[in-house]
Amino acid sequence: MSSDEAIQQIIKKIVLRNAIEYGGGAKYDVVISKVVGLRPDLRPMIKELIPLIKKIVDDVNSLDFPDQEKMASKLLVFQDVDKAAKRKEEPSLPPLQGARVGEVVTRFPPEPNGYPHIGHAKAAIIDQEYARMYEGKLILRFDDTNPLNEQLEFYDAIKEGLEWLGIIPDLIKNTSDDIKILHSYGRRLVTKEDAYVCTCKSDEIHSMRAKGVDCPCRTLDSNDHLERLEKFFDGSFEQNEAIIRFRGNMSDLNTAMRDPTLFRIIDADHPKLGRSIRVFPTYDFAAPVEDSLDGVTHAMRTKEYELRNALYFSVLRSLCLRQPTLLEFSRLEFEGMPVSKRKLKPLVEGGLVSGWDDPRLPTLAALKKRGVLPEAIHKFILSLGISLADTKPPFESLEAYNRKLLDKISLRLYFVKHPVEVRIGNPILGKIELKNHPTAQLGTRNVQISDRVYIDRADADRLASGQEIRLMEMYNIQLEEKIQENGIDHLRVINTGQEIKTSLPKVQWVSNDDMVPFTVIVPDKLFINGEFSKDSLHTYNGIAESYVSKLQPGSHIQLVRFGFCRLQTNGVAIYTHG
Ligand code: ATP
Ligand code: MG
Repeated sequence: MSSDEAIQQIIKKIVLRNAIEYGGGAKYDVVISKVVGLRPDLRPMIKELIPLIKKIVDDVNSLDFPDQEKMASKLLVFQDVDKAAKRKEEPSLPPLQGARVGEVVTRFPPEPNGYPHIGHAKAAIIDQEYARMYEGKLILRFDDTNPLNEQLEFYDAIKEGLEWLGIIPDLIKNTSDDIKILHSYGRRLVTKEDAYVCTCKSDEIHSMRAKGVDCPCRTLDSNDHLERLEKFFDGSFEQNEAIIRFRGNMSDLNTAMRDPTLFRIIDADHPKLGRSIRVFPTYDFAAPVEDSLDGVTHAMRTKEYELRNALYFSVLRSLCLRQPTLLEFSRLEFEGMPVSKRKLKPLVEGGLVSGWDDPRLPTLAALKKRGVLPEAIHKFILSLGISLADTKPPFESLEAYNRKLLDKISLRLYFVKHPVEVRIGNPILGKIELKNHPTAQLGTRNVQISDRVYIDRADADRLASGQEIRLMEMYNIQLEEKIQENGIDHLRVINTGQEIKTSLPKVQWVSNDDMVPFTVIVPDKLFINGEFSKDSLHTYNGIAESYVSKLQPGSHIQLVRFGFCRLQTNGVAIYTHG
């Protein structure tokens, strides 16, 4: 759809909605203010749009009401306009420079060399938001040009992670799909002498780069130069014997321009190409060429690539290819949690964590397992915006968004992590009905009660003889005596009635007649002051109400006075946060 058609379509939807709300007659002024309200990016051109809006209003008003309704349902008017209105209330990104509705193409280009993490979520969410904001396209492009690092498992993990986040690309492709095209552009650069085959040793290249001096391969005569090009592709060179370098400027202040590598020879199994290919482009070559050929209009990447921007455009200029707009944003990191795959991989491979989804990690698989909701990730990322300032927010700032969402959907249940038995002299026997949530309609549960309950050791320790506490949602008890029998404590108490006294401490409890063993795994910071913390995963083997066994794995619960958790299997939950 062209941008004009896309704008017409949006106006039509707004007019139809307005017509239906006003019983068949849309109003110009209301429509105009809705257009600029819902689509602030159209405000600068509203004057030119007025004749078009008038025409659409007249056309729609000339239809019968049933026809208007039919057209509205065909165009999904209500869903789309409501979505736009909802988006407006939520944190959103600033407009994109030079963007036109219907023409924006963004791409998310992960290397399939590990599991996706919260940093990828940031990049992918920003890419998707902009594509949506301008009714454009999002491409997921696996940047798979280094077979030494890439594995099939990781392509799938990245797709799964994005799907979980609700990111739906319009196109999924691999850079390796275009390997032959990339080769031919590479050949073109060398033929034009904008690049050359270099056979210097890597330490020599390194030192010449540092000194800013040209290498002898740069000044070969044309015949030798072309002969080398043929040899580069026909298998005459061994791995590490030759590379193709861009003819930049060896004394450029920007070291990224000192004849960077564009192609290298790698003898390894590629997950998609097998052994059929051994000449692979570097990121510096593949990224600009792919972005340009894929029709990307706005290419976003993290700001550590900033020095490479000049190279990105030089490659495209040399090849006479269209230049996308490049935009940078800061890398997202968390305190005490490594984010980069480079840091995560050794932890996984070295067995220091249980896998890529270990709940102490910031991978999407781990965040899911732990109970972080995709919606919380979206809100958190959009709240950070696309500033260039380094962001190392504490994990707690993501938690705050998650807590708000979980609070409404999590059943509240009782869990006691270190149980101490309480014997009640004058108990109430039978069943009591407890609400699963104080305000949300999440149902009720029946709990069998008798003369014994368990409370947490910390609460028992605080309780002195003669003191009263309230067993939540049940009744008050008063301690008579702490008893030591065979080394096990129990408390002898009496029931002092149900009257609610605000001054009494309230404690959660689990009934002896209604309990199951229950384990909660609590992830803690993996790194403290840069040091790996072995003691970062705690396990509490406690007891919970038997009702918890009825819930499906994956359910979110709030263990009262303990925290939010996500059920992993029957009897085991992972702590989300407090
Ligand atoms: P890693 O060190 O984790 O391998 P990377 O940048 O090499 O990071 P890629 O798979 O190449 O990982 O990244 C795909 C995209 O995600 C890139 O556009 C990159 O800029 C972006 N990205 C990666 N990590 C982060 C992060 N921590 N914060 C924001 N964006 C990120
Ligand atoms: Mg990378």
